[in-house]
Amino acid sequence: MPSLPTEQSAALFERAAKVIPGGVSSPVRAFRAVGGTPVFIRSAAGAYVTDVDGNEYVDLVGSWGPMLLGHAHPEVLDAVARAARQGTSFGAPTGAEVELAEEIIARTPVEQVRLVNSGTEATMSALRLARGATGRDKVIKFEGCYHGHVDSLLVAAGSGAATLGHPSSPGVTEATTADTIVCAYNDRASVERAFAEHGDEIACVIAEAAAGNMGVVPPMEADGENFTAFLARTAHAHGALLITDEVMTGFRVSRSGQWGLDGQHGDLMTFGKVMGGGFPAAAFGGRADLMQQLSPVGPVYQAGTLSGNPVATAAGLTTLRLATDEVYAQIDRNAALLRAEVGKALDAFQVPHVIQHSGNLFSVFFTPQGVTAVPDWSVAATQRQDVFAAFFHGLLDNGVYLGPSCFEAWFLSAAHDDAAMDRILEALPKAAAAARLALTAA
Ligand SMILES: *Cc1c(COP(=O)(O)O)cnc(C)c1O
Repeated sequence: MPSLPTEQSAALFERAAKVIPGGVSSPVRAFRAVGGTPVFIRSAAGAYVTDVDGNEYVDLVGSWGPMLLGHAHPEVLDAVARAARQGTSFGAPTGAEVELAEEIIARTPVEQVRLVNSGTEATMSALRLARGATGRDKVIKFEGCYHGHVDSLLVAAGSGAATLGHPSSPGVTEATTADTIVCAYNDRASVERAFAEHGDEIACVIAEAAAGNMGVVPPMEADGENFTAFLARTAHAHGALLITDEVMTGFRVSRSGQWGLDGQHGDLMTFGKVMGGGFPAAAFGGRADLMQQLSPVGPVYQAGTLSGNPVATAAGLTTLRLATDEVYAQIDRNAALLRAEVGKALDAFQVPHVIQHSGNLFSVFFTPQGVTAVPDWSVAATQRQDVFAAFFHGLLDNGVYLGPSCFEAWFLSAAHDDAAMDRILEALPKAAAAARLALTAA
């Protein structure tokens, strides 16, 4: 299979690398995990992206989650153009941000929200609020859970047991992460140990509502209790708060996010991605008594020049209003079909794998033979990245653009119609054959 032309992308990448570190504005875009030249996108519409060499791909990245309705949705574009014509930023309150806050509150258990510009800002602010409200310093996070590049959350520790965090990036100080305790996702004993040791110093536990950044790892049931429910109960027993991060799952896995699927939520919640409709908008929210501790009513400071930006707000509000039950039903249907077909294709070529999902959000783990479930990072990390890389390029060469990392979820949109789905299904056996080759070559 000859590769598609990539001259223009390659030329841009070379230019980009001179002026932007790694040639990219966010690391995973650089294709480091899969090799080859990152595809520079010229335009996108519906379920498709077109690169600067003119290749068209069915898009399974969806800007890493926001594009629930597909790219360049006409009604979202109209709302954006209308808002922009009325001025792009005022640094003053607007009616539209009230409407967006009301829409979020109508779909979730939060009583109040504050709008911010990115998921990173949402989790950073929620963490500050939890610490301010409890008067405590320590936080528990989970290995493999990503909450943006907040200093104190950029920690990966040894597997298994709860360990005091060590920074995973230079520039994040030991002092910053000394208050971060890392536990294993779905591992209740590790959380109990952390509370037994540091109970009265822990301000909050932060967890993805369903983990989606180590591949998709839903909260597991044990003794009839969901892992997130266990976290809420355990945190509360020690006077700590729970933050459920729904930046990825919110308004995607159901109209009410992961909470809409399992009924579990934190005292504070964070949102982003879909609620920005492809623009920089995010939010954190929760119980009114907690949110009332924020500036200007309370002492916990939080602010933003562009927060509640009218153009981003218009895109987000229009996206949410168009994200009807029918939209979710269609994405759920296509996600189930795709999960089944990926499984069949990989089985046919005897490529060991595990497919996990929460609602319509799913991912494929290229785990070794014999692994049947991925409960946490230690298992997710056993993946054969070389096998994934071959699978990824097999899809790309056949016109399907998947996230260039085996730890990323697959994102479908309402614009993925039968024609787009058929193109993916046609590419799957070819990608599975490439994965098989990589498996046997090693
Ligand atoms: C994407 C993501 C973030 C970070 O959001 P940004 O807008 O990239 O800063 C935080 N938490 C989760 C769960 C995410 O998936």
